[in-house]
Amino acid sequence: MRRPDPFELRELLGPRVAVARRAMTGERGVALPPFIDHHVHLHLIDEQLLAAGGITGVVDLGGDPVELARRLPDGIPRVSYAGAFLTAPGGYPAGRSWAPAAIVREITDASPHAGAHGGAGTAVDEQATFGASIIKVALNAAAGPVFDGETLGAIVARAHERGLQVVAHVEGEGMTERAVDAGVDALAHTPFTEALDADLVARAVRAGQRWISTLDIHRSDPGARVLALANLSAFVAAGGTVLYGTDLGNGDLPVGVNVREIEALASCGLNGESLIEVLTDPWPASSPTTAVATFVAGEVPSRMGEMPTWLGAATVVPTEELIHDEH
Ligand SMILES: [Zn+2]
Repeated sequence: MRRPDPFELRELLGPRVAVARRAMTGERGVALPPFIDHHVHLHLIDEQLLAAGGITGVVDLGGDPVELARRLPDGIPRVSYAGAFLTAPGGYPAGRSWAPAAIVREITDASPHAGAHGGAGTAVDEQATFGASIIKVALNAAAGPVFDGETLGAIVARAHERGLQVVAHVEGEGMTERAVDAGVDALAHTPFTEALDADLVARAVRAGQRWISTLDIHRSDPGARVLALANLSAFVAAGGTVLYGTDLGNGDLPVGVNVREIEALASCGLNGESLIEVLTDPWPASSPTTAVATFVAGEVPSRMGEMPTWLGAATVVPTEELIHDEH
């Protein structure tokens, strides 16, 4: 670790990072774009801890659309959300203790038209009406029935008509392929139940599919962890777009930047500037907030291997409080 030098810092972390100090305290450090956790469940965590832990924005991938619609749009954390899970009748996560009825919609009719009872189009429209920018579909063949192709196709088509992204939870054999075939925009987790072949990974990359990492949730399941690390490494090597996400609310995870998640991302080939991209991609928004920034006080890493621990000291500060050093 060393004192920040603007030139070396840009070499290590790319052009969106700057040496800065806080106007109030004079504390020196590094300013970065806002960090986003692209997979959380707000109803299961204490969100007040996120900003102190360095997270500015979150993507809620499964919650009560009515509760989520009540949020103030300019609050911190900034929240994009999916609203309820859409799933097949009796499918995951219906009936789970953490998934009350308010956060699950069981689709009984492939109709894309608005107003059909239990219809695919009706469920998409409901989430959109409550302000969702994402539709979350469960494709978990390991835990119950999943959508047929017609129903999944109707959901994706209606979501895209309304300008919404579709995110799938894929689990079980063949589910990643089904998501790629259907034109799903993002995976909520790096696939962790099967080793994907290179052709499928290449198709996902060509389609512009984004994969949300969630590698640290497998720390007590070595088999799943090995599969997820191998699949994400292949996806990164093929040029795929990865988003930092932790599935916060799922088990015991730190509320804030998760150093173990970043270490796992680094082990898949995401370092330096590409690691900053993964943490700061504004998806599903098109641009990040400029009201706040990420700040890491103190010395900066001189080696890539020091980056995850260093990023773990990040906090959120108002942009107007940061004075950038010119160089
Ligand atoms: Zn989740």
